[in-house]
Amino acid sequence: MSTGIHDLKSLTAGDLVFTIAPPTERTTLEITVDRDASLILRAPTCATRERVEQFIESKRPWVYRKLAEKDALAAPPIRKQYVDGEGFAYLGRNYRLKLDETADGVRLDRGRFVMSPAVAADGDAAMRRWYVRTGQPWLERRVEPWASRMGASGVGVAVRDLGYRWGSTKGESHINIHWATLQLAPSLIDYVIVHELAHLKELNHTDRYWAEVARAMPDYERRRHDLTTAGVKIWTCRG
Ligand SMILES: [Zn+2]
Repeated sequence: MSTGIHDLKSLTAGDLVFTIAPPTERTTLEITVDRDASLILRAPTCATRERVEQFIESKRPWVYRKLAEKDALAAPPIRKQYVDGEGFAYLGRNYRLKLDETADGVRLDRGRFVMSPAVAADGDAAMRRWYVRTGQPWLERRVEPWASRMGASGVGVAVRDLGYRWGSTKGESHINIHWATLQLAPSLIDYVIVHELAHLKELNHTDRYWAEVARAMPDYERRRHDLTTAGVKIWTCRG
């Protein structure tokens, strides 16, 4: 006889923890995301752990979306002003903005972002383009050693806007990284890279998936935690 789900108080699936609601007459499985972002799982009396875990995996993208929406609502939106002294992060360091009539577009120059006032009129778009353009070659160099360590060859990477996700995968050998990720410290960007590379082998956050991540990056749990903390302070242009 397999374990009934109601023998458990909570259930951990990868990085998600569900509180099991007391059994009721219901006949279907349901996940709800509470106002405080806690996850509640409701299940019929007869549901097995295996069935529930399958259900959680199928709902995982939806759960992340809900959690991201709550995060976005809880944290005040970050808006940038295109005036002297505004700060922009790149690879974990903060740089001040300097408007300069003689500047051509935007560039990072001797510890400052220099931007022409004409470009500053649509500064968000200019900065986003800068992160994409500068991040692309940086990430290509950065992904390569991780990919070979994880036994993947010829992995392509593209810097894009991915909404609420740090990264995503496409097909069997391509990963996308959100341009906003480039604001983080390299050690946290590495976590995003490894997270996505592991998804090329295992789509879902199964035990096998996390074992793959741990093999490449033994201290990934600390980095994942730091990413959560740093992530809410990252500018994503959605303000
Ligand atoms: Zn993932």
